[in-house]
Amino acid sequence: MAKPVVAIVGRPNVGKSTIFNRIVGERISIVEDIPGVTRDRIYSSAEWLTHDFNIIDTGGIDIGDEPFLEQIRLQAEIAIDEADVIIFLVNGREGVTAADEEVAKILYKAKKPVVLGVNKIDNPEMRDLIYDFYALGFGEPFPISGSHGLGLGDLLDEAAKHFPKHGQGEYGEEVIKFSLIGRPNVGKSSLVNAILGEERVIVSNIAGTTRDAIDSQLKVDGQEYVIIDTAGMRKKGKVYETTEKYSVLRALRAIERSDVVLVVIDGEEGIIEQDKRIAGYAHEAGRAVVIVVNKWDAVEKDEKTMKAFEQNIRDHFQFLDYAPIVFLSAKTKKRIHTLIPMINTASENHALRVETSVLNDVIMDAVAMNPTPTDKGRRLRIYYTTQVAVKPPTFVVFVNDPELLHFSYERFLENRIRDAFGFEGTPIKIFARERK
Ligand code: GDP
Ligand code: GDP
Repeated sequence: MAKPVVAIVGRPNVGKSTIFNRIVGERISIVEDIPGVTRDRIYSSAEWLTHDFNIIDTGGIDIGDEPFLEQIRLQAEIAIDEADVIIFLVNGREGVTAADEEVAKILYKAKKPVVLGVNKIDNPEMRDLIYDFYALGFGEPFPISGSHGLGLGDLLDEAAKHFPKHGQGEYGEEVIKFSLIGRPNVGKSSLVNAILGEERVIVSNIAGTTRDAIDSQLKVDGQEYVIIDTAGMRKKGKVYETTEKYSVLRALRAIERSDVVLVVIDGEEGIIEQDKRIAGYAHEAGRAVVIVVNKWDAVEKDEKTMKAFEQNIRDHFQFLDYAPIVFLSAKTKKRIHTLIPMINTASENHALRVETSVLNDVIMDAVAMNPTPTDKGRRLRIYYTTQVAVKPPTFVVFVNDPELLHFSYERFLENRIRDAFGFEGTPIKIFARERK
């Protein structure tokens, strides 16, 4: 089920990123460990009391050399496109400015709920400053302080009142949802067209409501699929579509709604930092992954080229060692027909549940082969292992002391599990828990 999306909009310096960080809190992310990635998160999942949602800081999307007013207008448009609820943020200490009115004008046209947050109200004496903001026409202004963490609960409660009701708009469990992600121009839309143009593919309308009319629905050999739209596929001709931040935002939204993610790389241009970052998001989200090297027709090659490229991918995407790689061409259609079978395999493995007794045999054999590590004279003891979830497959190992299950031994267990059960195309997660 897709989570509701909240976007924060407002002119610069009102405190959008302060509020965003406050709501998101500390989140550890492998993507941010990748060198070259600055701390510039603009999209994240968040939990606030009982609310579970995703949040966008539109202020982080800078749109080329557009003039100031145009930038904030476009950011507001992105919020309208992407969010279920918009938090319109203003600075309580400066009163209503012309730029606030500009943002308001755009938001009036949206049929999306808007909650007005008046920031920098750092103490109760300043509360009277909110009354000016009734003039913006969005009802009751909520006093908050991003730097002190005040008033956010009330603001988010109000936002949550407008979250879509559960059960709306997504596809059935039996439908395989996949998306193609990658930076602009790697060939995502060409690949979608190539898939849809295949002979075995019946482009269909799957029963049920669709959240996004631009998702493509298809059927192959009786199995239903949905291709989740990403940036670059629906090309509306808006100026922000080709900016990196926006394409990352769209990719994150698509990943969330997918079972399987095709990470598309331009074979002609090779791997760049941005590819790694986008692939990292798919891995972190726990989705099944297939790596697609497109434009293989345009690569000058000999018998070593593919192996070398594959090695290059393995070196750059070490966290995706489970993902199969396919070299193909949307243009010549070469190997396009291999995609659907690969998606099926990845999706099956993503949802695979293994038998507990067999799992424990595998773990016992593993321990016999490579004894558990010791730390300061204490040895890790593994009592029992069980699979607690699918999508992705998640295992809990009951041990004497979780601290003793070091990364390298966990990695070893993961590899044994993979050798025994496959799990090609899907990440798996392993947690250690103390047996009481
Ligand atoms: P953005 O451009 O809208 O993302 O704004 P920032 O989050 O970068 O904040 C702009 C400035 O306002 C920074 O110097 C923040 O420290 C400051 N700021 C943010 N929230 C508050 C607040 O609640 N009270 C006060 N006094 N300052 C704040
Ligand atoms: P997107 O932005 O990722 O959706 O990329 P597009 O599908 O719009 O493709 C970007 C450019 O790459 C277009 O000029 C395509 O014609 C070209 N292109 C796409 N796939 C291939 C391919 O397999 N081979 C070659 N040579 N060019 C391709």
